[in-house]
Amino acid sequence: MTHFKELFLLTGSNIEPRLDYLEKAELHIAERIGSIVKSSSIFESEPWGFTDGGAFLNKVLRVETELTADEVLSIILDIEKVAGRQRTTNQYSSRTLDIDILYFGDEIIKSDRLLVPHPRLQERRFTLMPLAEIAADFIHPVLKATNAELLHAINDDSKVWSFKAEKL
Ligand code: AMP
Repeated sequence: MTHFKELFLLTGSNIEPRLDYLEKAELHIAERIGSIVKSSSIFESEPWGFTDGGAFLNKVLRVETELTADEVLSIILDIEKVAGRQRTTNQYSSRTLDIDILYFGDEIIKSDRLLVPHPRLQERRFTLMPLAEIAADFIHPVLKATNAELLHAINDDSKVWSFKAEKL
């Protein structure tokens, strides 16, 4: 019998064409990681932690996978590379495509290369808004609070707004 894990991923981009990068990420994720069973709307936000870049687009995807978290991370890093991301030494910098693992079921992972649940998700409005939109009642396995409760309690006054694509 096959066991699926429920995985939440955050995709983000702040270099044009931002929407194309998010769409490309979803195609790769569906092909290489598993079915995207739910996806949030797209949110736009000011860069967080640095000021010299354009606004980010972010989206959260709920994915069912048969892979381990470690296998998912390796694929994510490869997808980021394929999408043309230039890694810099700055922790916070502009990026064509960033993909974070927010939750991997209710697993708690602390390895050299992976921290799950993502250690800063409860501090970031740009993460919790799309996450709470599609999984309000999902319980953070460490903090024992739902995403909706985490969003309500957040101490982050950066601006996040709904993204409306320009009409063609
Ligand atoms: P970043 O520059 O934020 O994309 O960092 C990517 C690195 O963070 C990866 O090489 C991972 O080893 C590490 N990492 C640790 N925890 C996570 C996580 N939950 N999701 C994605 N990357 C993670």
